[in-house]
Amino acid sequence: MNEDEFKKATSNLKKAVPLMMKHRIAATPSNYALWYTYVDNAIPELNQELDYILGSLGFCPAATGDQLYKDYIASKAETNINELKQNVELLVHEISSSMDDTLSDTSAFSKIIDKSFANLEKVQNENLSIDEAMDVIRQLVSESKEIRHSTEFLNQQLNSASQEITRLKTQLAQVHKAALFDSLSGLYNRRAFDDDLASLMHSEQTISLIFLDIDHFKVFNDEYGHLFGDTVIRAIAKRLQTSCQAGITAYRYGGEEFALLVPHKSLRVARQFAEMLRTSIERLNVKDRRTSEQVSSITASFGVAEKMPKDTPETLVERADRKLYEAKKMGRNRVMPF
Ligand code: GH3
Ligand code: MG
Ligand code: MG
Repeated sequence: MNEDEFKKATSNLKKAVPLMMKHRIAATPSNYALWYTYVDNAIPELNQELDYILGSLGFCPAATGDQLYKDYIASKAETNINELKQNVELLVHEISSSMDDTLSDTSAFSKIIDKSFANLEKVQNENLSIDEAMDVIRQLVSESKEIRHSTEFLNQQLNSASQEITRLKTQLAQVHKAALFDSLSGLYNRRAFDDDLASLMHSEQTISLIFLDIDHFKVFNDEYGHLFGDTVIRAIAKRLQTSCQAGITAYRYGGEEFALLVPHKSLRVARQFAEMLRTSIERLNVKDRRTSEQVSSITASFGVAEKMPKDTPETLVERADRKLYEAKKMGRNRVMPF
């Protein structure tokens, strides 16, 4: 988010929060999103509908708000994790400035009261009738009650909003984690791979990529069952994970395919590392729980590529993939280039 966008978002929130208070809207994330979009006038149809509801009912019932959120916002907006995160941060920022605003409003108000009482004292000497004086006092009392009310209401709103933020943050962290990990192997997933590769490609540093694919994996599934296949995937993942040092990261790229990003290492060094992994996998023993048989014929083929100056993530992946294919064609259980 650049500064202009941030300013715009802050100013929208500054408009949305008082509107929500005015209409006594609960401080939930979906309500913030709804009223934020409303003041942003980003979806004219939403504004039309909400204006109509406010015009005819004078308020917006909670269920109607939920429905509007579902119809116009949840269905249309791609929930982007980063956007959500930025919004949470913005909300935190906004809440703290709302607090400041309320505090300064309240202190400004008490100054007005002080001044009014001073004035009252003065006019006493200028023959103001007691009824007229009482009117001024009554008005002051009612205004002060009102501001106390709205301050209390705002405080409630802020309290529940900050609870909501805490909840959202935890949820966000969980979603974020789940989005980047593969549950079967415990390794990072394809999405994390794409993200990490893209950011590594931005820098000038040397980087190598290793692809590996389990050999004849279908045979394990067919002979020993899918669950055994899963166990093999987990065993290899564990091997990869324990072998990863010096900034090397392992990913489950797809079914029985894995990728390793090797920063700061040339093709030659990455190849040696792949060779070490190859022999390590070759020595694996995985027990078939049903028959207690130790299966030791697990091997994998490897393709390695180093980033060239003109490479994009796609061309680098393609080259490593081609090398992997060559390794398969030459008889499997080997690292290419030779
Ligand atoms: P190759 O040596 O050419 O790689 O042969 P392969 O049998 O390993 O390759 P193929 O692509 O023919 O088969 C891969 C199999 O992996 C097919 C698919 O059912 C299986 N597979 C993919 N994901 C999983 C998984 O999560 N668990 C299990 N058990 N099997 C999986
Ligand atoms: Mg495969
Ligand atoms: Mg395979």
